[in-house]
Amino acid sequence: MAIISINLKDGTLDSGSEVIVGIDLGTTNSLVAYMKDGQAVCVKDDTGKNTLVPSVIHFAENGAVLVGDAAKAKLITDPGNTIYSVKRLMGKSYADLTAVQGFLGYKILDDDKASLVKIRVKDHYYTPIQLSAEILKALKARIEKELQAPVAKAVITVPAYFNDNQRQATRDAGKLAGLDVLRIVNEPTAAALAYGIGLDTTQAEIIAVYDLGGGTFDISILQIQDGIFEVLATNGDTFLGGDDFDSAIVTFFCSQLKIEREILAEDKSLGQEIRLLAELAKKALSRSEKFEGKIGNQTVHITRAEFEAQIAPMVQKTLDCCSGALQDAKLTTDKIDKIVMVGGSTRVPLVHKSVAGYFGKPVFNSLNPDEVVALGAAIQADILAGNQKELLLLDIAPLSLGIETVGGLMDVIIPRNSKVPTKAGRQYTTSVDGQKNLKIAVYQGERDLVENNRKLGEFTLRGIPPMPAGLPKIDIQFIINADGILNVRARELRSGVEQETDIRPTFGITEEEMAAMLLDSISHAQEDMRSRGLLEARNEADHLLQAGVKFLKQNENILTPEEKKETKMLLDALKTAADSSDKDNILQAVEALNSYTAPLAHRAMDQTIQAAMQGKKVS
Ligand code: AMP
Repeated sequence: MAIISINLKDGTLDSGSEVIVGIDLGTTNSLVAYMKDGQAVCVKDDTGKNTLVPSVIHFAENGAVLVGDAAKAKLITDPGNTIYSVKRLMGKSYADLTAVQGFLGYKILDDDKASLVKIRVKDHYYTPIQLSAEILKALKARIEKELQAPVAKAVITVPAYFNDNQRQATRDAGKLAGLDVLRIVNEPTAAALAYGIGLDTTQAEIIAVYDLGGGTFDISILQIQDGIFEVLATNGDTFLGGDDFDSAIVTFFCSQLKIEREILAEDKSLGQEIRLLAELAKKALSRSEKFEGKIGNQTVHITRAEFEAQIAPMVQKTLDCCSGALQDAKLTTDKIDKIVMVGGSTRVPLVHKSVAGYFGKPVFNSLNPDEVVALGAAIQADILAGNQKELLLLDIAPLSLGIETVGGLMDVIIPRNSKVPTKAGRQYTTSVDGQKNLKIAVYQGERDLVENNRKLGEFTLRGIPPMPAGLPKIDIQFIINADGILNVRARELRSGVEQETDIRPTFGITEEEMAAMLLDSISHAQEDMRSRGLLEARNEADHLLQAGVKFLKQNENILTPEEKKETKMLLDALKTAADSSDKDNILQAVEALNSYTAPLAHRAMDQTIQAAMQGKKVS
């Protein structure tokens, strides 16, 4: 057995005592949290009051970039240069976004090459990754100020339904902000951790995480077992949240003021004034039974019962989503052990009452619902820092891992973003008769050709018993343990030959190198496809050339002189084509040889069978 022991990130085991922060990178607001004296806390702004950083970025005329409250203030005065809701664009192509573009005040551009969206601000084009990185930089600065020390490592949360592209985009944003993103954690998982759910690894349970924010609603059903959180189902509505509650109150106030709601579209400042008062009313009604306020010199008022009547259909819509998620998970409400509330809008009494009623049990809502995800991320970060050693939570492999195969192609065994710990394997064989040794070279990276990836090490499996090419079964297993250490094992299954070799990693890999490798793989995607196509065509040609020579030799007596001549000619043509760099040429030559020899091969086979049958009869 051959073993390579490598820490995939830097070639060493983490010593683990530095601060790793938890970040909730939200659609509307973002937060950063860390463990302070054994307790997860969110970091406040300079005023010492707010933990939320509005996820808004403003680009000033002089090139200055503002993030947070200061940028939010520009939403009204300079909307074209103020970007919000960037999370909705992460990892998306232009085609994915046609539905949302109308909602955004800024310009989304189609980028032909990468087909990922870009956002135009003045003469600059920004990717959602770059924009998210600006928010992350602001959070990094906030925590560094608090701790008076540099912070380089983070855990970032994403919605459970985020796909690989969106998760990778989030990781890349972290890298751009100078953060080593140790783990991407699902938001519902973080919320559960904040309540200590899942920390007792002996307990198995099923939980529902109900997340109603300003603009979106998500419900996730998670199964927790042995400290592993598995998402059973997600459902939701990407355009339903507290903003809609505000809007319902705006309509209510308009009728009291005896004005048409439509005029607010024209009178923007009146619209803004009523909207702000509506949000104030909504928040007040979470504590009091009634609210009274003023617009100009006119009084508006709303009771909690009136508010609840307005929003009841929206709350019902969220419950319908819960039913959808349960149905997908093939569960009923009585199978849900705990319900965790996330998002500012779960403060609305009708919301938590309705959810508790729907599931038939009280909900977890004692923590600040705006902070709960960030707090959980900080707990996860603390576990990663090695401060809660008994806990094992899943990570993902940041780059693909694979081996070199014929022609220098990268054969991926563990794809990028796979959950860690993980194990994957594949069987290989020899390409030459009697081959005794097989070189196994391990690479990390996203490019199709190994020469463009990073070599982690290589070893040779020796002592394979002589067999015809293609007969040995060489099993190669990649195992990544919870520490991110990769073990590679090679074994010839027919003979049981194993080899043991220790390989040291060539060099450590920095976050910048990792970022560069990823960007490289994106920018070279087309070129890689071409070279992979050429190499595959060449491999096929080589294989066919060998088989063709064998065929001619074995069927000397069956083929006519013309058939032999034509086959030889086609073989020569294929050889010439294989030496060229023209994939189509090679494939044409392969096709020509194949189609000419196919009937000959059939005939040869028939005659061999006939001969065998006659032989049988004779005996
Ligand atoms: P989030 O996206 O999780 O930050 O949620 C923000 C939403 O929660 C906004 O629509 C806020 O108006 C709403 N919200 C915040 N505090 C309260 C409250 N006390 N009562 C009702 N809604 C609230």
